[in-house]
Amino acid sequence: MIQLSDAARAQVCLIDHPLVQHKLTLMRKKDTSTNSFRRLLGELSSLMAYEVTRDMATQAVQIETPLESMQAQQIDGKKLVFVSILRAGNGILDGVLQVVPGARVGHIGIYRDPTTLQAVEYYFKMPKDMHERDVIVVDPMLATGNSAAAAITRIKQCQPKSIKFLCLLTAPEGIRTLHAAHPEVPIFTAAIDRELNDHGYILPGLGDAGDRIFGTQ
Ligand code: URA
Repeated sequence: MIQLSDAARAQVCLIDHPLVQHKLTLMRKKDTSTNSFRRLLGELSSLMAYEVTRDMATQAVQIETPLESMQAQQIDGKKLVFVSILRAGNGILDGVLQVVPGARVGHIGIYRDPTTLQAVEYYFKMPKDMHERDVIVVDPMLATGNSAAAAITRIKQCQPKSIKFLCLLTAPEGIRTLHAAHPEVPIFTAAIDRELNDHGYILPGLGDAGDRIFGTQ
C-alpha cells in the first residue's frame, strides 16, 4: 500500500460524520439499487457540501426582521462554481446545488483511456468571469487521479480565485497524483480506501460510480 507524504495527507479533509459514513456504507453494498444509490449520493453530496463550503466568505447585509432592523451575514452563491467531471460528477450536482442553489455549474468531459489510463478531454463549458469565482470540482471517485489532475490543469487556464476537489471515495494513488500536480488544492472525501486494482478501480470501493448512478451496467 502506498504511503502518503505528510504534505499530501495535510491537504485531505476526511469527512467522517456518522451520517456520511452510514450512507457511504449503504452505497458500497453491491445489492443497493440504482434508485437508492442515486438518492444516497444526493444526500451525501448535500452533507459534504457543508464541509467543503465551511470557509466560504460571507458579507454583512442590512435586513428587516418583523421586529427591527439588523445586520446579518449572507453568502454570495453566485461566486461559487461547481465543476462536474462528466459523467459521474453529475451525480453530485443535485445534492450540492440544494445547499448552494445560487452556485453556477461548469462541466468538463474527460475520459480515461482504458489502456493508458490517461485523461482525454472531449467537452469544456464554464460560466463566464471565472477569475471572480471559487471552484469546487466534483467527481465521486478519485482513483488514479489523472482525470482530476487534467481537469484542474484545464480549469486553471480560466484563472479562478481558488479550486477545491470534492469526491466520495479516493485511494492513496489518486491523492498522490492530484497532490503532485496541484499541491495547493484541498481534497474533500468521505473515505480513503486501500488501493487501486489493475484496471484503476478503487478497492474495496463501490464499483463503477457512473454505472451505478445511471444504471448503465
Ligand atoms: N471510477 C469508478 O467509477 N470507480 C472506481 O473504482 C474508480 C474509478
